Amino acid sequence: MKKLTKGYIKNRASQWINELIENAIEMEREDNLRLEKRYISLILDISRHYKIRIPNKRYICKNCKSYLIPGKNAIVRIRKGRIIIKCMRCGNIKRFKI
Ligand SMILES: [Zn+2]
Repeated sequence: MKKLTKGYIKNRASQWINELIENAIEMEREDNLRLEKRYISLILDISRHYKIRIPNKRYICKNCKSYLIPGKNAIVRIRKGRIIIKCMRCGNIKRFKI
């Protein structure tokens, strides 16, 4: 049996997160909100549990657990040197320094 090293587990977990993100985007496109929310909460749980950073975390709305696609369910603006992402589903606003 293969020894489960910390690095191996983290590697598998981040692969898993990437797959879940792809699935969440797919569900967002298909307007399958129930599954999308399920995927996003899984992503958040896995990253918390294994202490892994989520790629493109800024496109995840933690408030309503949707994956934000600019032009579909999110508005992206740049104001005063900051990126502002507004979730059109729940109205949550996220701000990032450029
Ligand atoms: Zn939202």
